[in-house]
Amino acid sequence: MATFVIVGAGLAGAKAAQTLREEGFDGEIVLIGAEAERPYERPPLSKDYLRGGSERESIFVHEPAWYADNDVDLRLGLRATRIEPGHHVVRLADGSRQPYDKLLIATGAVPRRLPGPAYYLRTAEDSEALRRRFAEGASVLVVGASWIGLETAAAARAAGCEVTVVEPEPTALNRALGHELGELFARLHVSKGVDMRFGTAAAEVTETGVRLSSGERLTADLVVAGIGAAPEVWLARDAGLDVGQGIRTDAALRTSHPDIYAAGDVAESYHPLYGRHIRVEHWANALHGGPAAARSMLGHEVVHDRVPYFYTDQYELGMEFSGDVSGHDEIVYRGDPDGLEFIAYWLREGRVIAGMNVNVWDVVDDIQELIRSGVTVDAKELSSG
Ligand SMILES: Cc1cc2nc3c(=O)[nH]c(=O)nc-3n(C[C@H](O)[C@H](O)[C@H](O)COP(=O)(O)OP(=O)(O)OC[C@H]3O[C@@H](n4cnc5c(N)ncnc54)[C@H](O)[C@@H]3O)c2cc1C
Repeated sequence: MATFVIVGAGLAGAKAAQTLREEGFDGEIVLIGAEAERPYERPPLSKDYLRGGSERESIFVHEPAWYADNDVDLRLGLRATRIEPGHHVVRLADGSRQPYDKLLIATGAVPRRLPGPAYYLRTAEDSEALRRRFAEGASVLVVGASWIGLETAAAARAAGCEVTVVEPEPTALNRALGHELGELFARLHVSKGVDMRFGTAAAEVTETGVRLSSGERLTADLVVAGIGAAPEVWLARDAGLDVGQGIRTDAALRTSHPDIYAAGDVAESYHPLYGRHIRVEHWANALHGGPAAARSMLGHEVVHDRVPYFYTDQYELGMEFSGDVSGHDEIVYRGDPDGLEFIAYWLREGRVIAGMNVNVWDVVDDIQELIRSGVTVDAKELSSG
C-alpha cells in the first residue's frame, strides 16, 4: 500500500489530504503538523476572530472527527526535521522516521521578525493574545501598513484602542496596489482615527514602543509587527531541492525531486500566465494549491494556473483583488471610489493585469477572465460597464 506524507498541517496540507481521499486514494495518508491545533484558516485571525466576532470552532478546516473518519493519520505538535529524498524518509522531532512514497511539503511561512519584544500574528494563539490586549484598551503601534498590519489596526480601533501605524513606504500597500489605491486605504484608516506615519521605518522594538530609524521614539503599550513572512524552506533546502523565493515547482507543483511536491505559501511555482515562477502568499492559493498537488501526486495531469486572488475586510470596506499590478501604466475606475463602492482595473498597454472590487460582489470571475484573456480593452467602456 502506498504512503503519502504531507508535512505542514495548514490549509494547503489539509485540503491536499481531503482531495487524496475524494479522488479515491486508498493508501496511507500521514499529515504532520508542528502546531498543537488541527488545521485551521488564518484569514479570520486578523479579522472577525481577532475582533471577537466568531467562535474558535469556526476557523478549523475540518471537524475533529473528519481525520479519523477519512483515515488520515494526523500527527500534531510534531515537527519534521529532515527529508532524505534518497531514502524516501522524513525524520521527525520525536526521533522517528516516516517513510513515504510521495511527499508534499506545505510548511507555509513564518513572520519576519524585528529585534525586541513585538507581537506577531500568524497563529490562533497569536490572535487570542492580541485580542486580550486590545480588550484591555492598550495603545497599539503597528509596524507595517501591509494587509495584516492594516487589518490589525482596524481590529484594534474597533476595540477602542489608540493606534499608530509606521511604514517605510510612502503610503499603505504601496507595493501590492501602487500609490493611488494604497492612498485610498491610508485615508480610510486616517478617517477612523489611526495615526499613519509613512516614510519611516522601525529600527528596534523596546519595552515602551519603538525606536525609528530616524532616532525618534514612539511609545505604545504594545507593538505588533506585520512586516511580511518568510517561507519555511529550510527542510527543502537541506534536502537539496531547488529553492528560489520559495520551493521551486513546475506548474504541476512537482519540485526538483520527482516524488516531492510543494504547495501553498512555501511554494514558488511556475505560472503559465506570467511565464515565470511566482510565490503567492494568499488563502486561495493554499485552498486550490493543496488539491492541485494532491491530484498531481496521484498522477493526474495538473496545471495550477489560477489568477492570484486575495481579499480583505477593514471597517466597512470589503474587497477582493485579482492579478498583479506590476508594470501598470493606467488605472480605470468603475463606480464610486470615494463612496467605497467601485472596481479598479490596472492596465498595461491597454490590457487588464489586475482588478479590485470594493464593496461590489460577484464580479471576480469576470475580472479574472479579462486578466486571463489578455485582450485589449476600451478604457471608456470598462469604466461605464
Ligand atoms: C493573520 C493572517 C491573515 C491572513 N489573511 C488573509 C486574507 O485575508 N486573505 C488571503 O488571501 N490570505 C490571507 N492570509 C494568508 C493565508 O492565510 C495563507 O496564504 C495560508 O494560510 C497559507 O496556507 P499554507 O497551508 O500554505 O500555510 P500555513 O497556513 O502557514 O500552514 C503551514 C503549517 O505547517 C506547519 N509547519 C511548518 N514547518 C513544519 C515542519 N517542519 N513540520 C511540521 N509542520 C510544519 C506550520 O506550523 C503551519 O501550521 C492571512 C495570513 C495570516 C497569518
